Amino acid sequence: MTPLADILARRIAMTGPITLADYMNECLLHPDHGYYTTRDPLGRAGDFTTAPEISQMFGEMIGLFLAQVWIDQGRPAPFILAEPGPGRGTLMADILRATRAVPGFSDAARIHLIEASPILRAAQRQRLADHDVEWHETPETLPDAPLFLVANEFFDALPIRQFQRDAGGWRECQIGLANGSLAFGLAAAAPIAALDHRLADTHQGDIVEICPAAGPVIAGIAARIAAHGGIALIVDYGGWGSLGDTFQALRAHHPEDPLANPGLADLTAHVDFRALARAASALRHSTLTPQGVFLERLGITERARQLALRLSGDALDSHIAAHRRLTHPQEMGTLFHVLALWPIGAAEPPGVTP
Ligand code: SAH
Repeated sequence: MTPLADILARRIAMTGPITLADYMNECLLHPDHGYYTTRDPLGRAGDFTTAPEISQMFGEMIGLFLAQVWIDQGRPAPFILAEPGPGRGTLMADILRATRAVPGFSDAARIHLIEASPILRAAQRQRLADHDVEWHETPETLPDAPLFLVANEFFDALPIRQFQRDAGGWRECQIGLANGSLAFGLAAAAPIAALDHRLADTHQGDIVEICPAAGPVIAGIAARIAAHGGIALIVDYGGWGSLGDTFQALRAHHPEDPLANPGLADLTAHVDFRALARAASALRHSTLTPQGVFLERLGITERARQLALRLSGDALDSHIAAHRRLTHPQEMGTLFHVLALWPIGAAEPPGVTP
């Protein structure tokens, strides 16, 4: 048993079963034993690899995307360049390098990062040592100004609740104890107001998930963009509307039982982009655009060719593999999607399908 499994088992024995959201929150962010609070999980030696860690081209394309939107919106200055869940700071570093040549962009940008993990904050501080950066616990404390925000694999880390439809309403998936060990169970059926709209598109036995933290986060971001201008670009895996059990654990690049090693494995769920778009109803939103299509439209293949000219041997092979991994339909190209949110009346952003 991990130390956190022990803590959770004792808590459940005293006060009863907990929701998946409670479990995820403890596993990811417990001050002493949380997954993100105690380690840098990224890269080959860690548990998972993300697009910015695969190739600099990912951040370069997003940098050019943000710069184009900034120019189309009349070059507001100053503006907030924000990223929730910035990992090692690689995406932000690549954005800043790629946009250096855009007149006025760097001078006008105020960099704000939203990060819960002290260890990753330290990595970001080191990576972005040449820049002034402010850190936040939540997006709520971002300053009121035009907001240009990008989030890659952030929303999938926010805790979810899971429900199964039943004749009498919805039965919530809970974590209780069986023979002293953590075990999944279902609570009694009850009506759930937040799922009333799902009665139209689900059937008995279907599983749906909601992410209670995502709504307020997106609504706050959307209110700032609606009032001051800017854009939010959300990149993640998931779909349009949630259906089915997507709660998963990843450790050392392999899936495992999410209850097996609390605090030692990354826990995620698919992002429901429709729920994000609904929470941002003050803005226009794109349709869900596959990451591969988005990056191709922004010119990743041309950039890949340029970079390839300076490479040979193993470096060239891994560069070609990285391009393929980011864009190919059988790799991250269609597994990951992009949702853009921008002010009503502003120009349509590049790359996404409106
Ligand atoms: N965007 C990065 C890292 C993705 S991992 C990349 O693409 O490489 C998820 C990130 O979100 C980590 O930085 C993690 O510490 C952060 N995070 C997770 N839950 C959070 C929360 N509730 N508040 C703030 N940051 C959180």
